[in-house]
Amino acid sequence: MRIDRSQYTRVVVLTGAGISVASGLRPYRGPDGVWEEHDVERLGQASALVERPADTWRLFGGMRAPVLAARPNAAHRALAQWEAGLGAGQEFLLVTQNVDGLHQLAGSRNVCELHGNVMRTRCSDPACSYPQVHDEETHQRAVPVCPVCGSALRPAVVLFGEEIPALPLWTAKRALRDCDLFIAIGTSGSVAPASNFVRGAEYAGARTIYLNLEPMQPPQPAFKEQYFGRAEELLPELLGLGG
Ligand SMILES: [Zn+2]
Repeated sequence: MRIDRSQYTRVVVLTGAGISVASGLRPYRGPDGVWEEHDVERLGQASALVERPADTWRLFGGMRAPVLAARPNAAHRALAQWEAGLGAGQEFLLVTQNVDGLHQLAGSRNVCELHGNVMRTRCSDPACSYPQVHDEETHQRAVPVCPVCGSALRPAVVLFGEEIPALPLWTAKRALRDCDLFIAIGTSGSVAPASNFVRGAEYAGARTIYLNLEPMQPPQPAFKEQYFGRAEELLPELLGLGG
């Protein structure tokens, strides 16, 4: 099963929440533990940002302390180490659905964040000139206001009901178009974006690998190889690296 790095010239890796579990992060962990699913859907709606921005901050502001406390695990480190060992003619893109920034912290360089980053804050008015900023405040007491235009500030993540921004989506699709190795890790392989991405990779003739704790339900046949287990154990082995 081991991947020989020298055999591939254009590699795309997609990661989801499963890769960060060993770092102590569950999806949508609030200050009082894991949020109930219905709370996440209610608080994380795009409409909440307009009607109840304090709810948006309750959810995403509440994720900032656990994200700040989290450290990359062996799976994050293996991907960074693997990327660092690629040759000059080899391309590598790490596409992630995670908003925790742990890949960058582990040393990954070419990272494409589909859903943004929970540690960044931006203006809710897309036309405003206020830049996206790193922000460790949780904003649980009051909704922060844009210093430029006075609109509410918001976490720089994709809310439920919002589309993935055009730039990261285009970057991912462009890389998939001529990739020769595609690996999806810790994400539901039978739903988008992994299901779409693997089909794109299959058209390109890539080797397609799925790595997750559990099998897909229903299966996505475009994945030709599947390995089940913990990412932090399987991935270093698959990539031929120590943790
Ligand atoms: Zn503004």
